[in-house]
This record gives sequence, C-alpha cells and structure tokens, in this order.
Amino acid sequence: MREQDGAPADVALEHVTVCYDRRAAPALDDISVHIAGGAHVAVVGPNGAGKSTLFKALVGLLPVSQGRARVHGASPGANTVCVAYVPQREEVDWHFPVTVFDVVMMGRYGRLGWLKPAGHADREIVWRSLEQVGMAGLARRSIGDLSGGQQQRVFLARALAQQPHLLIMDEPFTGVDATTQQVILDLLHHLKQTGMTALISTHDLRLAATRFERVMLLNRRLVAYGAPAEVFTPAALADAFGGQMLMTPDGAWVVDQCCPAPAHRLVEEV
Ligand code: ADP
Repeated sequence: MREQDGAPADVALEHVTVCYDRRAAPALDDISVHIAGGAHVAVVGPNGAGKSTLFKALVGLLPVSQGRARVHGASPGANTVCVAYVPQREEVDWHFPVTVFDVVMMGRYGRLGWLKPAGHADREIVWRSLEQVGMAGLARRSIGDLSGGQQQRVFLARALAQQPHLLIMDEPFTGVDATTQQVILDLLHHLKQTGMTALISTHDLRLAATRFERVMLLNRRLVAYGAPAEVFTPAALADAFGGQMLMTPDGAWVVDQCCPAPAHRLVEEV
C-alpha cells in the first residue's frame, strides 16, 4: 500500500447514487458533500436512510451507480488509502473459532499482503491496539466468548491495527455497555489529535450533537451537513425523521417510530 502523503484523508462525493435494484428507488440519491481531512463526522438518519450503504460504497464493497466517490483522491477500494471499516455487530460471524489476538492481527494483513508473515513490529502494533481498547488481558480468549461490548472493542482494535487514514464505524454504540461507549469516545478523541478522519453512524442524536464536530443527516438524500447547530434545525430534523423524535427520561434524543414528538429540545441543547 502506498503510504499517504501525510495530509489527513478527505472524502469527496459528487452526485453519488447507489442502487441495489435498478427497478427500485436508490438507497442513496444524488449525494454531494466534501468531508475535510481529519474531520470526525456523525452520520445520522432514520432506519433505511442509507448510512450502511454509504459506508459500504466508501470501502468499495458496493459499486457507485452514478456520480463519483473519492477517498483522498482515490476510488473506493483502491489500494492507495487505508480505510478501516467496523461493520454493524450483526454482520459479523462471532462463532468463527479465532482468538482475540488473531482477529486484531487480521487488521495487519492488508498492509503485509497475505504471503508475508507477521513480524515483531506487527505483533507490537496488535498489542498496542488491544491496549488502546482495554482488551490486552483477553488476547488469548476466543472472540465468541466475549460480551457484545468487548467484541466491539476488539473490532475497533483490529481497525486501529490497520493504521487507517479513514476510520468508518457502523453503529458502534448500539447495544454496548457504558464502559465500551466511553472507550470508543476516548479513543475517537485521541484519534482526532492524530488527524485520522472518522465517519461514525449512530442513532443517538445527543451524542452526535455533543461529541462530533460535524454531522451528516441522511434520508436517502443528503438532508444537511455541517456543525451540529447548523444541521439539527427543526426543519432538517422533520425532513429526515418526519417528526418522529422522542426524548427519553435520561435526556437522550432517540427516534421513535411510534411516538412522534417535537424536535425543538435537541435544537435548544446544541
Ligand atoms: P441504514 O444503514 O441507514 O439503516 P441501509 O443502508 O442499511 O440504511 O439501507 C438503505 C436502503 O437500502 C434500505 O431501503 C434497505 O432496505 C436497502 N438495502 C440495504 N441493503 C440491501 C440489500 N443487500 N439489497 C437490497 N436492498 C438493500
């Protein structure tokens, strides 16, 4: 893999449309946006808004039907920029018989090539990545024996071991314990200082508003992109969610399909 030129990786989408089935409506429709290198972006929108589709297109797992996507100037999937992708938990086969250490070592193979054996430096990187997510003590355990939050942290360690220019995580905060959530947030804070670009999807709008400098609001189309205060307007939220916003007793904003509620509190908070 070509080493990057040192500048953080930017993401440029020009009229990007992604279709699973040409007879159906596109999953992503005419998205144009430029994400500056080093930005940390929360990607939000209702179920089916196209968040996972966007991520898969950026990794090169799905072709772009129309328009152009570039990650640091290269086509998605090109072997020039390292993009680490942590999929949603349900997309991973957790019963695969492999240790935590081996899962994280898999993150090194993209840089090594399959034929070159891992060396001392690679093992060092794997241990460091495990330490960063607080999982070094469980390195010899089977991945299937861990809790959901621990598994999520191991996959984050695998992404770190790739030493990526762009980190993409699909719903990393869903169904995880408070410790894991904090580990991920602390790590993102640290990665921000290193200049790594990050795209993170979440249903937690308060988290998006308070912990991210940029928010992308999607509903198949790009509804809004910018600073949280610019994006979380009543009009944009209604456009994306159709007014299906709900504030839980602990003050978190969630989307509830059954209980429509006004979105103004979130806007006041931002
Ligand atoms: P989100 O991540 O925001 O919930 P997705 O990207 O998963 O949204 O889905 C966007 C749209 O694409 C939805 O209408 C979904 O049904 C459709 N879709 C997702 N994956 C597939 C697939 N493999 N085949 C056909 N349609 C799909």
